[in-house]
Amino acid sequence: PFAFQGKHITVAGLGVSGVPAAKVLHGLGAIVTVVNDGADERARAQAAELEALGITVRLGDGDTLPEGSELIVTAPGWKPDKPLFAAAERAGVPVWGDVELAWRLRGPDAAPWLAVTGTNGKTTTVQMLASILEAAGLRTAAVGNIGVSLLDAVLGEERYDVLAVELSSYQLHWAPSLRAHSAAVLNLAPDHLDWHGSMEAYAADKGRIYEGNHVACVYNVADKATEDLVREADVEEGCRAVGFTLGTPAPSQLGVVEGILVDRAFVEDRQKNAQELAEVADVNPPAPHNIANALAAAALARAYGVPAKAVRDGLRAFTPDAHRIAHVADVDGVAYVDDSKATNTHAAEASLAAYEPIVWIAGGLAKGAVFDELVAKSARRLRGAVLIGADRALIREALARHAPEVPVVDLDRTDTGAMLQAVQEARRLAQPGDTVLLAPACASMDMFTNYNKRGDAFAEAVRELGAGT
Ligand code: ADP
Repeated sequence: PFAFQGKHITVAGLGVSGVPAAKVLHGLGAIVTVVNDGADERARAQAAELEALGITVRLGDGDTLPEGSELIVTAPGWKPDKPLFAAAERAGVPVWGDVELAWRLRGPDAAPWLAVTGTNGKTTTVQMLASILEAAGLRTAAVGNIGVSLLDAVLGEERYDVLAVELSSYQLHWAPSLRAHSAAVLNLAPDHLDWHGSMEAYAADKGRIYEGNHVACVYNVADKATEDLVREADVEEGCRAVGFTLGTPAPSQLGVVEGILVDRAFVEDRQKNAQELAEVADVNPPAPHNIANALAAAALARAYGVPAKAVRDGLRAFTPDAHRIAHVADVDGVAYVDDSKATNTHAAEASLAAYEPIVWIAGGLAKGAVFDELVAKSARRLRGAVLIGADRALIREALARHAPEVPVVDLDRTDTGAMLQAVQEARRLAQPGDTVLLAPACASMDMFTNYNKRGDAFAEAVRELGAGT
């Protein structure tokens, strides 16, 4: 085990992971210095809190490696190309993220980890997994990027049998020695490439989640890149590759047969070659990408030995978080659906595939995205489109190229009232039986504080429509 007592440790970044990490390390007898880029009011308040404990904090100086540092514990979001890390490399100082710290402190002893990553669907899958594990009577929690922090999960009072862990590509980048019981990569699409430097580097960081797995590496049969990562991973002897598919499963896969989720990887009854788990209708909402999430969650739970019945009970007990394909209301026979969390094209493609015909509300900050593939794939489902936000012209041009017949309303405004007008325009385009879908394929920060506020504005606008009829 790593000895923290008397070690000079630099914590890079205040904030949600830095402050607790600094406190824990200080409590273990390390000599802690926190470095932070900014020096705003919040940072000063956090610094004061830590300084009162005897921790050194350097504000506005996040790139100087403090003299004598033996280890850096970084906030996961800090970019690998920051000068601080170049300095660390020159000095031979290792860099850990929050996940690595939790793992080194007590990871393997606290409880086995069932880990999930992917470009989209992480939170949903981890919550489904926790629900399934709970239904099996296990003490568990959804931790990591969501809910309980990993440090709290491994060091806190609460005892767990098994943890459902959401890991971002950033966290995986900084977690070299993590070894999960089993892990899943849900899908891989270009995202955060500015941070990782390239698609290869992004994929390699995601693939870290499989390294040293003990029981199962769960991959998406429809996304070959995830299978390739399993093949490249160095795993424990006996660890199996387990695929999930929306089609009929091959041996060692989970899939769907005539509306039933079926497991052909972990079959309990030796007389059978498949085990029924649940019905598609048990998945909320039963959209294709979400059935994939449910299969991935089921695969991890089954790898841990959870019985089929708990999979069904857990899926039935699960309700999705807000703004993820949430049905807001029906007005005049038109369904209004909020998928404000679809902040990239890959996510929007999933929700657009789940409805037809659609009046699509889209736009916001594109973050360098290209919309051609998304629009080309979804064109035949579109009744119309209403565009909002800073980068809406990119979507308008893609629509002109691939769906010239689809009527487009281009709202030239980015004030918060724009959402009400967008919903009114969508209503004009929609016919009974249609779905008005907010799936922006863009970030929200041009018009809203975050995707929650954007979804709330949509729901509010829909309520106003409903009240007006
Ligand atoms: P994450 O935690 O990875 O951001 P979420 O579970 O919060 O993922 O879902 C984010 C959005 O991604 C959803 O609103 C939906 O639009 C889309 N999505 C969810 N699951 C998938 C999937 N398996 N494939 C593609 N898109 C998905």
